[in-house]
Amino acid sequence: MKVSGPILALSFAVVLAACSEPTAQVSKTDAKDVVKEVAAKTKTAAASEKTQYALTKSDLGQGVYMLAGQGGNIGVSAGADGIFVIDDQFARFIPTILNEIKAISDGPIKFVINTHYHGDHSGGNAGMREAGATIIAHDNVRARMSTSNENKFWGRTVEATAPEAWPALTFSENMTFHFNGQTVEAVHVPNAHTDGDAIIYFREADILHMGDNFFNGMFPYVDIDGGGSVDGMIAALDRGLALAGEKTQIIPGHGPMSSKADMKAARDMLADVQARVKKHIDSGKKLDAILAENPLEDYAQYAAFINQENMIKIAYRSLTGQLE
Ligand SMILES: [Zn+2]
Repeated sequence: MKVSGPILALSFAVVLAACSEPTAQVSKTDAKDVVKEVAAKTKTAAASEKTQYALTKSDLGQGVYMLAGQGGNIGVSAGADGIFVIDDQFARFIPTILNEIKAISDGPIKFVINTHYHGDHSGGNAGMREAGATIIAHDNVRARMSTSNENKFWGRTVEATAPEAWPALTFSENMTFHFNGQTVEAVHVPNAHTDGDAIIYFREADILHMGDNFFNGMFPYVDIDGGGSVDGMIAALDRGLALAGEKTQIIPGHGPMSSKADMKAARDMLADVQARVKKHIDSGKKLDAILAENPLEDYAQYAAFINQENMIKIAYRSLTGQLE
């Protein structure tokens, strides 16, 4: 595997944004000018985030690449038949994503498959469609993108996206692509990270994209409001482990490229998290009492986007169907 590109792109962007924060000089200037100045600097900061956005490219062999940046990891297959893309991050990064793909190959982008409906994996759909791609996903991805959804866990409404972003082709179980000399299998894993997940396996290249069923090295988010469950996510990881061999290169939804052993560790961690929370539930404890005891204290190294508290809440809700 060959890695190129600015690995520190994200932290660089954060530093840059902090450095370009406007300093208030109200005593010297009129308030109106300050407002104007702040607006101009904010605009500059937003523009620089756009121009500074960069993806880290990993060459996985046989024309398959991973592009990593903000949002979900992107998979790209480039070859004689054109380009096949897995996930497309956010709409605002589409120009950079398209440039990066063009640097790999000048061929047409034929297909984009979404591993699930979340905006950090499907946000670029409209831009990809405009670039000529056909968007493909599980039936439930289109269903969720075309209606608004209540997310009780985060306490917010996830609005429907514009029709231009909806998948044009959908499937209910599995789908196989014969493309660029590869047999590419999209396998639906039910009620896992969401209710519309697909994991994607390039059989000849032996490369597996797990979508968000696999967060490498961190606690996973399980979108229970979006039809996901911890049990389903463990089953999805087992499905991935059954497909993978010792040499399979695995693209996680978030985190660095990984091996089968890394994914097995994530699966065992999640099963252990669920077992620990279940033990407390079985002894009659409610969520508050379990949180107070923090049964995940020794898993601190997995706390990232999802911290220990939220991981306990997710496991509790998945097991009991209750928010508290
Ligand atoms: Zn997700």
